[in-house]
Amino acid sequence: MLNLINTSFDNCLKCTVCTTRCPVAEANPDYPGPKQAGPDGERLRIKNPQLYDEALKHCTNCKRCEVACPSGVHVGTVIQLAKARHGGFKKGPREFMLSHTDLMGSLSSPAAPIVNAMTKLKPVKKLLDKTLGIDQRRTFPKYTGETFRSWFNKQSGTQASFQRQISFFHGCFTNFNDPTVGKDLVAVLNAMNIGVSLLKKEKCCGVPLIANGFFNKARKNAELNMSQFAHSLTKTECVIATEPSCAMTLRDEYPEVLEVDNSAVKDRIFFAAAFIAREFARGNLPDMKPVPLRVAYHSPCHLIKAGGVIYTMELLNSIPGLEVIMLDQKCCGLSGTYGFKKENYRTSQSIGQGIFDQIEALDVDYVVTDCQSCKMQVEMNTDRTVLHPLTLLAQSLT
Ligand code: SF4
Ligand code: SF4
Repeated sequence: MLNLINTSFDNCLKCTVCTTRCPVAEANPDYPGPKQAGPDGERLRIKNPQLYDEALKHCTNCKRCEVACPSGVHVGTVIQLAKARHGGFKKGPREFMLSHTDLMGSLSSPAAPIVNAMTKLKPVKKLLDKTLGIDQRRTFPKYTGETFRSWFNKQSGTQASFQRQISFFHGCFTNFNDPTVGKDLVAVLNAMNIGVSLLKKEKCCGVPLIANGFFNKARKNAELNMSQFAHSLTKTECVIATEPSCAMTLRDEYPEVLEVDNSAVKDRIFFAAAFIAREFARGNLPDMKPVPLRVAYHSPCHLIKAGGVIYTMELLNSIPGLEVIMLDQKCCGLSGTYGFKKENYRTSQSIGQGIFDQIEALDVDYVVTDCQSCKMQVEMNTDRTVLHPLTLLAQSLT
């Protein structure tokens, strides 16, 4: 049945701008590009479902086509929904493992040293490659022995002592893999006299589940998160997320892709940098010391889609002594779980090559980005360490 809330494809002007901006169409000749896979293909699929094109599997849902479209066509969403309707997602054990990030995190984190040692071993990587199709050339993310929530529980008394309170949606990566960004956010907000509170329960925002076709599970997570938001917002000003893909999904993908109504809370969900930059503009600035570094900033696709890059730049530019070089706005190519799949490895690496080359040619101390997935890809393919903007802001606190 035609989904009447997703008829934006009918606004297509056939200008082809989206296809010129699609990183997959540029790197992989098997992908026809967003115009053909999105609005053009949708008309054919409505007429005859047999005309569904398997090539839609190549789309990474990076949303660059949507940013480029002058006519407001939600091209990436049209493609994801078409894949869901026409059985275009392969849902095997590999997809389950890669997408159920909170389940994998809660199993792996208690045994972090063993899991981290195992996933570095060549024979283990080869086995995962041969049996599951997870490319052995990938570096796997490490798990942390102490989750962000465990660390936070020790700070909850201090946090409750602040008069102003915000809720923090930490996401799976900050909780189970690397809590650094969460800790830095708490330090920065506390320096601005704002306390942090966590949701009583939090589930994965749904990005990897949507990307791998587990829509029912993603919907369940969305419903739980929305009920938690409604409860938590009776006591706090807003909900903020540090991960651009989480923030975009909580605000935009819940109603559009999962048909979960978030209208009661949507206007109170913010990308962390947007919230902090607005506080800075109102004069709530922490005392900052110089951070004499030269860094290159990489803007993540989903942050570009959400219009959030300007806020991160505001934060970086407010740090005294920091020199920021803006990299070309190109996709890093990993797209979360996409680049881990053996069949996507070549496309993923080819998409990211432009960014890797640009970084290697620059004389900078660090690369900076807001997205943990981009960080993984850049650190695997260059000899640079990647920091989150909030880490630099935390370093500048006096
Ligand atoms: S979402 Fe990204 S990969 Fe998919 S069609 Fe649009 S630009 Fe291409
Ligand atoms: S950019 Fe928008 S209007 Fe132009 S072809 Fe793509 S979907 Fe159609």
